[in-house]
Amino acid sequence: MFDYLIVGAGFAGSVIAERLASEAGKKVLIIDTRNHIGGNAYDCYDNHGILIHKYGPHIFHTNSRPVFEYLSKFTEWRPYEHRVLASVDGQLLPIPINLNTVNKLYGLNLTSFEVKDFFTKVAEQMSYIRTSEDVVVSKVGRELYEKFFRNYTRKQWGMDPSELDKSVIARVPTRTNRDDRYFTDTYQAMPLHGYTRMFEKMLSHPNIKIMLNTDYREIEGIIPYGEMIYTGPVDSYFNYCYGKLPYRSLEFKHETLNVPVHQQAPVVNYPNEHLYTRCTEFKYLTGQEHQKTSVVYEYPQAEGDPYYPVPRPENAEIYKKYKALADATPGVHFVGRLATYRYYNMDQVVAQALTTYSQIVTKPTIELVSDLNGSSPNLGLDKAVDRPLPLEIASASSNGNGTAKSPAVS
Ligand SMILES: Cc1cc2nc3c(=O)[nH]c(=O)nc-3n(C[C@H](O)[C@H](O)[C@H](O)COP(=O)(O)OP(=O)(O)OC[C@H]3O[C@@H](n4cnc5c(N)ncnc54)[C@H](O)[C@@H]3O)c2cc1C
Repeated sequence: MFDYLIVGAGFAGSVIAERLASEAGKKVLIIDTRNHIGGNAYDCYDNHGILIHKYGPHIFHTNSRPVFEYLSKFTEWRPYEHRVLASVDGQLLPIPINLNTVNKLYGLNLTSFEVKDFFTKVAEQMSYIRTSEDVVVSKVGRELYEKFFRNYTRKQWGMDPSELDKSVIARVPTRTNRDDRYFTDTYQAMPLHGYTRMFEKMLSHPNIKIMLNTDYREIEGIIPYGEMIYTGPVDSYFNYCYGKLPYRSLEFKHETLNVPVHQQAPVVNYPNEHLYTRCTEFKYLTGQEHQKTSVVYEYPQAEGDPYYPVPRPENAEIYKKYKALADATPGVHFVGRLATYRYYNMDQVVAQALTTYSQIVTKPTIELVSDLNGSSPNLGLDKAVDRPLPLEIASASSNGNGTAKSPAVS
């Protein structure tokens, strides 16, 4: 008999499994429909021996020391600061928009003070910010919005920013200095030997049994367990009784190229050309040396694996009903990105899982601070909710004076 059945071997499930097994001495069965552990953060070597991220680039960044220290028990780190270029008007320009972006785009030579004036001049005054378009246009004006944000968002979400709630692009980071880092978090690093190795170490405790290629429904009633930690989609758990919660999905096209380096930056965004949104070259992320290089192109689509909850008020209403059901289901804890229908970065999911574990064993090892509508913990995490962008762009948030201060999306 297992004390816990954990559905899903991604960050949420693996962190709770590790804690329950090694700290609380519980016997745990962790199960996943996929043929691997690690959830969306899974990485592996492709046929050419290059380390790739199967479900798109995963960059670790956090402001939370407890989260970073916890994960450090299972991996060494490779220091890594992420950088992104956007292909605009035939040039590759730094994103988030900074002093160099504006100067290169317009062939100018502005100083930090002058670019501040520039943003003030181009920004459109608005009495009420309602949509994502309003958020951007009121910050950087219509022209930069059209060049960097509008079409990227249309591709990413299949909707015009004018149809998307302002919360999707909560803040538009603009920097008046030359800082071209994508994130400004205190801790920015990649697991030295990859995410999968880190997960293997987390789950290597003798109290943890792993079962892959299995839906939890296949073993319910066959393998006895005490309580369940559920990290799959919440609507699926309740047989879609209130309808399907919409997600935006992605198709990943992986390629290996016969050259040592393919592009000038780890990620190049294509707001205005191609059907894909961005191209990632993995060797930048992993530091691997190899005479070939592997890249992935991301094609947003409506159908497929659930990646990004679609942030519209009607979906939040549906989720509320599922949450009420979840709260009224004894013996099942709903944790992680799919079970709480939120776009969370990895560090936020780790924080949520650590908090849930503490609640389960009613042993508050960490100070719990209610955050993100009271549903998520704050272990030194910034309160900004990460969202897919131009989300990616929204991720490197700024405090408005050019110094980015919060973590965000990926
Ligand atoms: C394209 C993309 C890029 C991202 N980039 C970043 C980034 O750069 N930085 C960052 O911090 N975060 C990033 N994220 C977010 C990151 O992937 C998540 O925060 C994290 O993976 C969530 O972990 P999780 O355990 O909640 O969910 P998941 O990783 O999705 O794990 C849930 C697991 O549950 C399993 N499951 C579901 N239903 C069942 C069932 N019925 N039975 C058994 N198993 C089931 C699934 O197969 C899955 O493996 C990115 C996400 C995406 C989609």
